[in-house]
Amino acid sequence: MPTKIRWALVGASTIADEWMVNAIRTQPDGTIEAVVSGSAERAREFADKHGIARLSTNLDEILADRDIVAVYISSTNEKHLPQVLAAAAAGKHVLCEKPLALSETDASQMIEACAAHQVVLATNHHLRCAATHRRMRDLIRSGAVGTPLYVRVFHAVSLPPHLRGWRIERPDAGGGVIFDISVHDADTLRFLLDAEPVEVSAMTSSGSMGSAGLADGVMGIIRFSNGVLAQIHDAFNVPYASTGLEIHGTEGSLIARDVMTQRPVGAIELRSAKGLEIVEVVHQDLYITAVAQFHRAVVLGEDPAATGPDGYRSLATALALQESASTGAHVTVSPQFTR
Ligand code: NDP
Repeated sequence: MPTKIRWALVGASTIADEWMVNAIRTQPDGTIEAVVSGSAERAREFADKHGIARLSTNLDEILADRDIVAVYISSTNEKHLPQVLAAAAAGKHVLCEKPLALSETDASQMIEACAAHQVVLATNHHLRCAATHRRMRDLIRSGAVGTPLYVRVFHAVSLPPHLRGWRIERPDAGGGVIFDISVHDADTLRFLLDAEPVEVSAMTSSGSMGSAGLADGVMGIIRFSNGVLAQIHDAFNVPYASTGLEIHGTEGSLIARDVMTQRPVGAIELRSAKGLEIVEVVHQDLYITAVAQFHRAVVLGEDPAATGPDGYRSLATALALQESASTGAHVTVSPQFTR
């Protein structure tokens, strides 16, 4: 058992810069040993900013370091597959960003490789680590809304200028709102409902921000294995809406506002025959919670907050939404890796 989880960062990315460096360093047993980037200049800039001792443009060189226990992969999405396969082959535990890959075949390959090399594969779906979503999940499980029937997700936001780039320009890098935001909806709903997406229908919009055919907005319907119908609205180009999630059941409704976000914020109301109740939530940094669980997965053999198969399921839902938007048909979600 390692006493320290020594990490290498693969990707000099915004998410690493803004959230994950802090999340790793907050762990009592977490250190960051190296950063790998496709650009020596970006690696140097990132290493200097965060006081990281080693930098490289050569992933294999860093993976050859026996002291490194885990890698956090936050490159653009098309790089996740080769980087995860290389890390697994080197015996490193892997926390990979979402979407896990660009195709179901690639995601399966990543899951199989990590299993074969006996390393943890986790997907960085942060929302299931939010105190708000965990509280709602507990309430649903305890019957607070009765039988869940419908969900509405409000996840239309304004993509900040520094995050545009490949997200709105590069289909080859896995850009577009569905891979960026809808995957999070799919994962959060699976987590809240303890059910699997089975069929979807979607329409997308493009052109006000997305280029090269990439969607910048989507409205979709997801049917879950327990019969729940969920409607999702995700967008890059909505500056003045707030985010939210509502779950409507036979005995009550949970109304959550400002909960589809990276920040540890948001409020929940429970409405039922008893009246309106404000649900108490003790907020915690979502990414710190995710990394803490990843460390427990490595050290104690527990499951990470979101596993490789969880990443597969959210990706499969996203791919089905994309297919539905492009064909106009209802699309069945691949059943592989359902619980
Ligand atoms: P960035 O665009 O900031 O970084 C992605 C890659 O782009 C980096 O790895 C880097 O490549 C390259 N890059 C960074 N800055 C520049 C630049 N100035 N010029 C050219 N290339 C640059 O992306 P994000 O951090 O927003 O996203 C990275 C991954 O994380 C994606 O998979 C995304 O889906 C995911 N993500 C997840 C979130 C979550 O909450 N779970 C939130 C946001 C993103 P190199 O590796 O060569 O250094």
